[in-house]
Amino acid sequence: MARIKLVVFDADDTLFSSSSDCYLGQVRLPVRRLDENTVVDTAGCRIILDPEARSVLQELRKRGIHVSLDSVNRHREANEIIRLLELDKTLEHSKINFGDKGNNILEILQDFGREDHLEISPDEVMFIDDVEKFCNDVKRVLRGRGVVLQKGKDIDHLSELLNFL
Ligand SMILES: [Mg+2]
Repeated sequence: MARIKLVVFDADDTLFSSSSDCYLGQVRLPVRRLDENTVVDTAGCRIILDPEARSVLQELRKRGIHVSLDSVNRHREANEIIRLLELDKTLEHSKINFGDKGNNILEILQDFGREDHLEISPDEVMFIDDVEKFCNDVKRVLRGRGVVLQKGKDIDHLSELLNFL
């Protein structure tokens, strides 16, 4: 198996905790940061980062593995949450839109190539999402290469993805 160079996360219920009060796209701006892993909007809707997210992202970066986000969400709200949690520098070439998650992955790979001169092939990609359909969308564009993990099925906790590297 090829060495994984890039791990791409879904946001809601994957990189962000299912104990959040709402999804990233449901918050109303402005939002403020409550603590290290929590942001809240004026209606009291809390978005909570998965408790393992920071340590997993840190471990991946320590190993030289790039990380990105592929999320079906409202761009402006999700980006503001990511910025407030200071993840905007860690997550590279993230795609937050209502497009196809598989196409987003291909665009992320193109961005790394074009902007960073870093060629990443499909078999060097890992993708994690809690929704089976999205996992299948990404499997289709990766053509069976790379590693696609469904959270809640293939792994229960984010840290388990390290076992698949
Ligand atoms: Mg999700």
